[in-house]
Amino acid sequence: MSYEELVYRNLSLQRANELRESIRDYLDKEPHIETGFRVQERTLRNQQRILEHFNATRENWDDWAWQMKHRINTVEELQCFLNLSPQEVEELKLISKRYRWGISPYYLSLIDFDNYQDSPIYKQAIPSILELWDHQGSEDPMGETVTSPANRVTRRYPDRLIINVTNQCAMYCRHCQRRRNFGEEDKHCTLQQMEEALQYVRDNPEIRDVLITGGDALLLSNKTLGWLLGELDKIPHVEIKRLGTRTPVTLPQRITPELCAILEKHPPIYINTQFNSPVEVTPEAKEACDRLVKAGVVLGNQAVLLKGINDDVHVMKKLNQELLKIRVRPYYIFQAKQVRGTSHFIAPIETGIAIMENLRGYTSGLAVPTYIINAPGGGGKTPILPEYLLSMDEDEITFRTWENRIYKYKNYK
Ligand SMILES: *Cc1c(COP(=O)(O)O)cnc(C)c1O
Repeated sequence: MSYEELVYRNLSLQRANELRESIRDYLDKEPHIETGFRVQERTLRNQQRILEHFNATRENWDDWAWQMKHRINTVEELQCFLNLSPQEVEELKLISKRYRWGISPYYLSLIDFDNYQDSPIYKQAIPSILELWDHQGSEDPMGETVTSPANRVTRRYPDRLIINVTNQCAMYCRHCQRRRNFGEEDKHCTLQQMEEALQYVRDNPEIRDVLITGGDALLLSNKTLGWLLGELDKIPHVEIKRLGTRTPVTLPQRITPELCAILEKHPPIYINTQFNSPVEVTPEAKEACDRLVKAGVVLGNQAVLLKGINDDVHVMKKLNQELLKIRVRPYYIFQAKQVRGTSHFIAPIETGIAIMENLRGYTSGLAVPTYIINAPGGGGKTPILPEYLLSMDEDEITFRTWENRIYKYKNYK
């Protein structure tokens, strides 16, 4: 090696050390962050216990209809697994009168039964008395009821819209933005309502992107879903179809070979799901995502920033890295909406910005979603970024890098 080469090699080695040290805090914390893969043994023990309780088999467990039918939704049943305090029991009974809740046996099995109060799964699925005490926020902060030009349709953007096909979910997220639709029971929309929504799409040729959601789009039957996707395929101006579903997270058993055979017939399909915690990235979730990818579906994740669940720069980084491993591309991180009954989940916006600051540059660009605040009343998804552009004029811009190095850059005209 020439003297010059040696100098450069040494400089590069120094820089490499510096880069490693810039994520030292993460390297130290990362091994202690729970993931679905790391807690698999615990999950399997819980699964065994749940199966014994229901006197059921492994085959039952893998059957999504069984999972749906055996959703745990009473305090008495929850007590069979968790050592709830008398106060928690009282509070849960009180809140059950006001808001519905329910959790699939699979999602329940991800809870650390011995330390349930800290569990990101418990917090998302089991109601807190804080839901009743919340007097902030509104029932429908997105103004969905006033942006509905046709039955079941929400249109807030020029070239795309949502069709809401059901209120049913495998688990009723406590932070749900559509809590007002929980109702008393599961209700798919009727074929006639779907037909009206389809007619709206047919009549509006600028609509090129149709998002089917709910509730959970994948809780429609295979038959209905196949029909709906087929009808959309017949509309020449519909270029892409999207499905909103949390089943890869809360009910991966739903992603059956039969379902995938249907999805495969209707490309291009994009599925956005909602993993909020690395604990949710389990071997079962990976299998479900593998099947979807093989069926040609493109997978994205829309996380919600939730206090006590993922409002931490390291946990959020780990979540996004775990998602890339199972071929789910982080798409959005949403600031939680100001929905009545969910205030206890809302993290400060500073936290969201700090999370973004800690992702860009520090990890794969693929692991960096866009942080979004939804403007109230249906104003639209708005990206909120740490500020990189410091100043700009005709001739020059000044910006800072992910490491906070400041550069001036000529602005050619
Ligand atoms: C979120 C949303 C969409 C999709 O928005 P993208 O930014 O394209 O993912 C479309 N319509 C409505 C009403 C929405 O709320």
